[in-house]
Amino acid sequence: MESWKFQAIRRNDADYEKARCSSVWNGRVPDRYPALIVYPETEQDVQAIVVYAKENNMSIGTKSGGHSWTASFLRDGGIMVDMIRMNKFQFDVKSRTAEVQPAAYGSDLNAALEKHDLIFPGGHCPTVGMGGFLLQGGFGWNSRKWGLACESVLAIDVVNADGNLIHASATDNSDFYWAARGAGCGYFGLVTRFYLKLYPMPKGILTARYVFERDVFDEVTLAVERISDKVSEDLEIGIFVAYDQDGFNGRCTVALTLDALSDTAEEAYQALKLIHELPIVQEKSIKSYPYVSCTLKDMLQRFDDILDNKGRRYETNNMWTDAPVQNLLGSMNEIIDNLPPAPSHLYLLWWLPVHNRPDMAFSMEAQLYVALYAISTDSGYDARNSTYVVNSLTRMEPFRKGIQLADENLPSHPGKFMRTQNYVRLEKLRQKHDPQGRFYSYMRLPVEFMTSLVSL
Ligand SMILES: Cc1cc2nc3c(=O)[nH]c(=O)nc-3n(C[C@H](O)[C@H](O)[C@H](O)COP(=O)(O)OP(=O)(O)OC[C@H]3O[C@@H](n4cnc5c(N)ncnc54)[C@H](O)[C@@H]3O)c2cc1C
Repeated sequence: MESWKFQAIRRNDADYEKARCSSVWNGRVPDRYPALIVYPETEQDVQAIVVYAKENNMSIGTKSGGHSWTASFLRDGGIMVDMIRMNKFQFDVKSRTAEVQPAAYGSDLNAALEKHDLIFPGGHCPTVGMGGFLLQGGFGWNSRKWGLACESVLAIDVVNADGNLIHASATDNSDFYWAARGAGCGYFGLVTRFYLKLYPMPKGILTARYVFERDVFDEVTLAVERISDKVSEDLEIGIFVAYDQDGFNGRCTVALTLDALSDTAEEAYQALKLIHELPIVQEKSIKSYPYVSCTLKDMLQRFDDILDNKGRRYETNNMWTDAPVQNLLGSMNEIIDNLPPAPSHLYLLWWLPVHNRPDMAFSMEAQLYVALYAISTDSGYDARNSTYVVNSLTRMEPFRKGIQLADENLPSHPGKFMRTQNYVRLEKLRQKHDPQGRFYSYMRLPVEFMTSLVSL
């Protein structure tokens, strides 16, 4: 440790608490205290940290952007590796590829790529770190069409439990590559670089937003469900239910949002038209913004305004479901009736058509994604918000196929985040490549996964 040229902060150091709290994007910082917080600047620094952890029998939690809602990288007693200084990227226009360090932001990469008419399906919010985002799957721009962001990871550089820096791809060290695409906060290595595939920037970017009274939530949701299998893959349809949206202060409203990233403006227009012409949209929207031409930067800004309230105290929960919306309406209305003040919100995303995905750890998805965000600035609401998000989704348990690791709340409400056979394979790989548990795994597991471990 004496030879380290990078910053390291010990539990008793004066700046420890500031370093610990500022690593967590969520204003609700858990009471978990690593023994050491380190800030590597190079791959060799990361290797030295892993070797030190091995020699001192310590476990490692890795933080890239710090956006995990539950701060899964923050654990008691081990080493927290804050990758914040490894945030560079470079790209090659000709081969349409990029190399990205884990703490880079997708929005910065895309801002640089825009000048070259290229794009990567980064996260919807500008400040999500590439590390955690890519490892858990990555629901990014145009992901319905281009796939999860992790499907565009061509290879990685990763420091393994022995402190060796290895390159992993479909052909080299493929165990590490398979797991890196979906294991998320249970990955058994420390990724120092991602090699990415880029896409041509869509020429037709159009959005639309229609706002409805809360009491037509059922009608709007059922209408969208009826046409959801006819919707073009380059259109993302979401519903946000919240107070104080679009100037309707003190009222709860339902906002139907459409984002089309199509090859041409005409294709984007046609994608939006299908929804625009729905009778419910024509007759019952109380505010509408149809066919708004915009840039990726504008779209990022919109999500930033909704979600990116760094420092607010977030409680989240989510589920994937294939159940007909009709079966969910009772529970969803109860959620809305008890929704905390803005910016708390219920979010629905129509996700599938089913794609043939590559063989990778990521393997949990369904027709509809449901996420709930209870948000406050006052710690006095923490317990209430926690109970609210857990109970709300527990009520829909019979319809829950699984969960996303993106908005996961494993400590309070674990759910299946990949297929059971993939989970078993992941644990076998962990036993092979990280038998001492050098890298922290999931904070809590669903019962189905715990049962499957008995056979290992
Ligand atoms: C405002 C906001 C908006 C979001 N929007 C989206 C979205 O549009 N789409 C989406 O898919 N998700 C979204 N998320 C969820 C987000 O992608 C996940 O929380 C993701 O883990 C964040 O990435 P990060 O690098 O900030 O993760 P961190 O919080 O830094 O890390 C999360 C976990 O990932 C693992 N990890 C991180 N870096 C490494 C590494 N280099 N090597 C090994 N393991 C590592 C660790 O286990 C760590 O505990 C959003 C979250 C927030 C707070």
